[in-house]
Amino acid sequence: MKKATKFIISKRIIILAVLGALTYFAKSYFHISIWYIVLFGIGTGVIFGKVFCRWMCPIGFMMELMMGGSSQFSSMYQYHKMGCPIAWVSGLLNKWSFFKIKINNDTCIKCGKCDKECYISTLEPAKFSLYKPDKLKPGASYSCSKCLKCVAACPNGSLKYKV
Ligand code: SF4
Ligand code: SF4
Repeated sequence: MKKATKFIISKRIIILAVLGALTYFAKSYFHISIWYIVLFGIGTGVIFGKVFCRWMCPIGFMMELMMGGSSQFSSMYQYHKMGCPIAWVSGLLNKWSFFKIKINNDTCIKCGKCDKECYISTLEPAKFSLYKPDKLKPGASYSCSKCLKCVAACPNGSLKYKV
């Protein structure tokens, strides 16, 4: 994988903080209707899948900070996502978005590092896998928020997030 891609993925929380703050100030300062932000979040879902929550959302940023502090907040994070129309719609769009997480089976060495990094395949290993052909793909599931840790973890660039 290109160094620049890996660098961007490793700095995701900082990008989330900056874009989340910009979203918040745009909403407060310019009095942008929340519905424009919802439409924007859903629009990004059509192209990229559910990226808004972990790359641009100010509430998502706060939730991640709290989860980092204590695991007792993880259920609150799920609750927040259940209560957000951007998460509902863009989560469903993970199946049909233009950009998807794709595997190159010719170069995959089946090391399993991608599955170990993914919160979906870690939680339900019998159901989901990024590389096992008989399992469902976590990247297409409702819960994938395009953290792209799987892509960064692949040692030989067999996983790519692309059209
Ligand atoms: S981007 Fe990859 S690691 Fe993150 S949730 Fe989706 S499939 Fe799992
Ligand atoms: S991390 Fe890469 S090489 Fe290893 S199993 Fe996943 S896709 Fe294959």
